[in-house]
Amino acid sequence: MKIIVASFQCESNSKSTMHPTKGDFEYFAGEDIFKKLVVKEIFTSAGFEVVPSIYANALPTATVTADIYGYYFNQIMDTVKQNPDADGMYIYVHGSMEVEGIGSGELYLLKEIRKIVKRECLIALTMDLHANITDELGNYADIICGYKTAPHVDQAESQKRAASALCYCLNNSVKPYTYVQKIPMLVKGDTMLTKYEPLLSLEKETEDMEKEEDIFGANLFFGHCWIDAPNTSASAVVSSTSMIKSEKLAKYLANKLWDTRKEYKFLIEAELPEECVKRALEGKENRIFITDSGDNTTAGAEGEKREILNLLLSRRPSKKCCVAGITDYETVKLCKDKKEGERVRVKGINEEGTIKKHGKILGWAKEIIGDSVTISFSDVDAVFTEKRSAFIEKGNFDKAGIDLLSYRVVVVKLGYLFEELKPFADREIFALTDGASCVELSRLGLKNINRPMFPLEDFEWKA
Ligand SMILES: [Zn+2]
Repeated sequence: MKIIVASFQCESNSKSTMHPTKGDFEYFAGEDIFKKLVVKEIFTSAGFEVVPSIYANALPTATVTADIYGYYFNQIMDTVKQNPDADGMYIYVHGSMEVEGIGSGELYLLKEIRKIVKRECLIALTMDLHANITDELGNYADIICGYKTAPHVDQAESQKRAASALCYCLNNSVKPYTYVQKIPMLVKGDTMLTKYEPLLSLEKETEDMEKEEDIFGANLFFGHCWIDAPNTSASAVVSSTSMIKSEKLAKYLANKLWDTRKEYKFLIEAELPEECVKRALEGKENRIFITDSGDNTTAGAEGEKREILNLLLSRRPSKKCCVAGITDYETVKLCKDKKEGERVRVKGINEEGTIKKHGKILGWAKEIIGDSVTISFSDVDAVFTEKRSAFIEKGNFDKAGIDLLSYRVVVVKLGYLFEELKPFADREIFALTDGASCVELSRLGLKNINRPMFPLEDFEWKA
């Protein structure tokens, strides 16, 4: 029997203006996709022929244009058209890809695949915990397995779970049924952390459900508030051998998550930007990180804002500070032929700076994707990058040519700090800034999401 394997991932942000280009995707085709996916061994050892298609995965970004979507979509469809006799298909998607003129990129892909594969072909998906699941997705996907951790550390396990379930169903002629139960809540992602209660117990419960032989996926999806679309919300999704069972369990999980909706609070300091800067500059800790959450490139924002940089400069800090990285193609280009030590003026900053270091930027796949320039404005160093980037670990600072350890206040364009940066942070302050990834739902001005929606409204609800 034959299984097609593909992956197409891009988390979208409706408010962001930087649409992804081909250069934003880490891309592999054919056998090389297994450099990124861990499922091949599961399929081959279960006796299946594996047909690899493509792997395309981008840093979260604005909505995907129809052109760019089509470029990858067509390659997956070509594989499907060449193998219409496939018995199964495994696809790793994000679940919050919004395509201009199309809507949910995942739903459209599945609908088109179903037109070609044989009726009994089983499709298994791995999805991100922040997927905005569409009501209809269960009609097209037989098995859905989502991550169970936020921040995400179980991507590999989630792939393996879906792949193993697909093998089991195909080898035992089992037809799985997936039920999607939408939950009218959109709680701040940065407050929904699975290491802590109530999510620790809830996720444990989904794991226990999956220990039963006839349940292939028991999932809670928290949703992703930065897409202005009707499918934007949390959901509970269960795949099992019976639709009645899947529906019953999905409703049970949905009610449980709904009941916890008021329990999610920031576990770190979360303040407006002026207060964050004041606290960071007055703090006694050796190194304090501020996360500019409204301009979070890992949530699709542009990363262009200078608000915190200007707030730091206005207070003339006596500590060494760093802002990394600000997306600014023009500034990097302007500085390209200038030497370190030369004076330079940068758009949106009142004072003149000095070029401190030319460096490189790392992309989502940790490969060099372009140039950076670090400019010193008194004791504040700002790293400008020619492309959108995310400073998620020390390696990003190293590549830019600056020493993370030399700074006492570090501003990064993230929501919560990535685990890799935590060892360097003696204190972390979450800045509630405006921007495409602003965490205050009421300030996002979403017009197309379903209402009522908690926390915009508080109301009675039961699945
Ligand atoms: Zn996610």
